[in-house]
Amino acid sequence: MSNERIFLSPPHMSGNEMKYIQEAFDTNWIAPLGTNVDKFEEELCEYIGMEHGLALSSGTAGIHLALKYFDVGPGDYVFCSDLTFAGSCNPILYQYANPVFIDSEPESWNMSPIALEKAFEWAEKENKMPKAVIIVDLYGQSADYDSLLPICERYGVPVIEDAAEALGATYKGKKCGSFGHIGIFSFNGNKIITTSGGGMVVSNNEEAIKKMRFWATQSREPAKHYEHKEVGYNYRMSNICAGIGRGQLKVLNERIESKKKIRLFYEDSFKGLPVQIIPIPNNSESNYWLTVMTIDEGCTVSPFDVIGLLEEENIESRSVWKPMSLQPLFNESGSFSHTHEKHVGTEFFKKGICLPSGSELGKSQLNLITELISKLFKDN
Ligand SMILES: *Cc1c(COP(=O)(O)O)cnc(C)c1O
Repeated sequence: MSNERIFLSPPHMSGNEMKYIQEAFDTNWIAPLGTNVDKFEEELCEYIGMEHGLALSSGTAGIHLALKYFDVGPGDYVFCSDLTFAGSCNPILYQYANPVFIDSEPESWNMSPIALEKAFEWAEKENKMPKAVIIVDLYGQSADYDSLLPICERYGVPVIEDAAEALGATYKGKKCGSFGHIGIFSFNGNKIITTSGGGMVVSNNEEAIKKMRFWATQSREPAKHYEHKEVGYNYRMSNICAGIGRGQLKVLNERIESKKKIRLFYEDSFKGLPVQIIPIPNNSESNYWLTVMTIDEGCTVSPFDVIGLLEEENIESRSVWKPMSLQPLFNESGSFSHTHEKHVGTEFFKKGICLPSGSELGKSQLNLITELISKLFKDN
């Protein structure tokens, strides 16, 4: 293996980050909180078009606080997208509540309105109405909110939008993260922009953000001494990490442009092969975080053949998320599929591959990847 490893989606710094980190050093604001945190919250909210933000140590912490805000507790039910990363639903277990997983639709890969409707009908009949619905915008692609939100509204259940992978994506011109009562983002190292690790919750509900801010700082009561009436968490983002975030936010649109070019390159190179690139519905614009492809029915090449072949050349690719309803951790949880015969998420898992999508990928690297994959399909 002679070539330098090609990662799936590595961090890509802009050079602006050090300026903000330096400011933190100069003013000795190395402690958590400080100017960078306040500014990062303001700047991200302005970008998304939401009024209030709360910078956190992770996106998972954001989902946990949002669930707490909607009073999710032991024995409660929460609906959640099935095809997602475990970070979306682990917090349901932190609150000792029961997740119910909702399958994807084929059009956007995101929550199926048909499956959601079925789940609500079940919940109404069984008296198991959820306290919240977590809708994920998968792989930088918006869910179909015009179909999903009216269903949740009809049953009076609030929506948490897990936009961890979709910062910068839009649906009918409106930014992902702004569709739920509370939206969450992640700035983990592999996301489209990173703070090395971190997250944010956004909302137009000031009271909600205030409450979550309180819980995230150990629920310290306003008093001269340390006074506590409620359980709290140490969930805030540090001023250093927020400095990285401010630098990264400045180049987010450039990153989206670079990643879009990568997707177009794959699309072009794979014409004629028995593969499909993840669709983008007409009403939305992806942030192109990862280019995902599926292998056509009947083709003998499996995702693991592709992943293994690339790995031999020191290139990282991954299979699509394994649906939560198939995970041993959740084998007692309920789930609703898109149709009786068809579990859409399972099909995507069985035939999907996430291709290297780093915004710094060069032409020669892309050529190497696409030639390896094309040859594999032509030889089989
Ligand atoms: C990354 C991710 C999370 C969790 O974010 P962290 O910052 O890693 O805690 C949650 N949901 C989805 C869909 C993600 O991709």
